[in-house]
Amino acid sequence: MDMQTSFLDRLFDAGLLIDTGIDGLYGRSGQFEDVIAAFERLIDTFGGADGAEAMRFPPGMNRAFFEKSGYMKSFPQLAGTVHSFCGSELDHVSLLECMEVGEEWTKGQEATDIVLTPAACYPLYPTVAKRGNLPKTGGLFDLQSYCFRHEPSKDPARQQLFRMREYVCMGTEQHVTDFRQRWMDRGVEMMKAVGLEVTIDIANDPFFGRAGKMLANNQRDQNLKFELLIPITSVAKPTACMSFNYHQDAFGTKWGLNLEDGSVAHTACVGFGLERIALALFHHHGLDVKQWPASVRKTLWG
Ligand code: ATP
Ligand code: ZN
Ligand code: MG
Repeated sequence: MDMQTSFLDRLFDAGLLIDTGIDGLYGRSGQFEDVIAAFERLIDTFGGADGAEAMRFPPGMNRAFFEKSGYMKSFPQLAGTVHSFCGSELDHVSLLECMEVGEEWTKGQEATDIVLTPAACYPLYPTVAKRGNLPKTGGLFDLQSYCFRHEPSKDPARQQLFRMREYVCMGTEQHVTDFRQRWMDRGVEMMKAVGLEVTIDIANDPFFGRAGKMLANNQRDQNLKFELLIPITSVAKPTACMSFNYHQDAFGTKWGLNLEDGSVAHTACVGFGLERIALALFHHHGLDVKQWPASVRKTLWG
């Protein structure tokens, strides 16, 4: 049995994660949720004074916005769409017959206007663009959403439906790169406060296909993405528990996000992988929260 399977099995055995029969789709216990809630309060403590505007979107987004985002160009392999039955009574009869005999019944399902949210910040840009120009001070937003990515895995840190907490900053290049640096420093400090050793490294998104290799190299060459890594299922390949992304003016241009003086806004976003952070804590301090170091418990629960 490899290490990944055993950590997942230990999480199941402890009841922290609940098996649904699907890799990467888990229920979570009250204890697991309590760790996430405590860590989110810690995030609030670090980010609270910045005056971010909080918004919460559901885990599905407007398909038209998703299409415009270009997600299918870069990550078609990860996307999830919501389809529904839209047929007649006759279609219903054949659907049930199909199911009865164990034939493929989903072929007649039709795409709805909703797709599953791939990252917490995707619904934000069109929402902010609708408001008109951003104020001189730019924009700062606090988001949290379940996100879907079709990447089934036995690694408990790679889930298909997971929560991402994000701060998104819009403004001048200087403004948003300062924001990103501030959260890199805070990320290291926060993880230290909960007893986790971290490294920060340059990273790239998993762009699809051969053309994607070039996009990934470009992203690295320009220092557009950093990750905060913590060993969870492997020391050699530690897990990204936070990411720090600078989009330059790409989203500003795409969505028509402008500053007060009419110039195109630059944007950056910082994401916390909430399940991954909880898993890092359980992996490092043990599955019994009562046994965690007093200093860690104090940071999380006062
Ligand atoms: P990875 O490199 O591990 O695939 P990513 O670079 O795709 O992660 P981002 O797109 O930057 O991740 O997403 C922001 C954060 O969301 C990540 O830093 C991570 O903590 C979390 N995250 C991403 N994918 C998953 C997943 N499949 N399961 C759980 N958490 C995830
Ligand atoms: Zn984002
Ligand atoms: Mg990555």
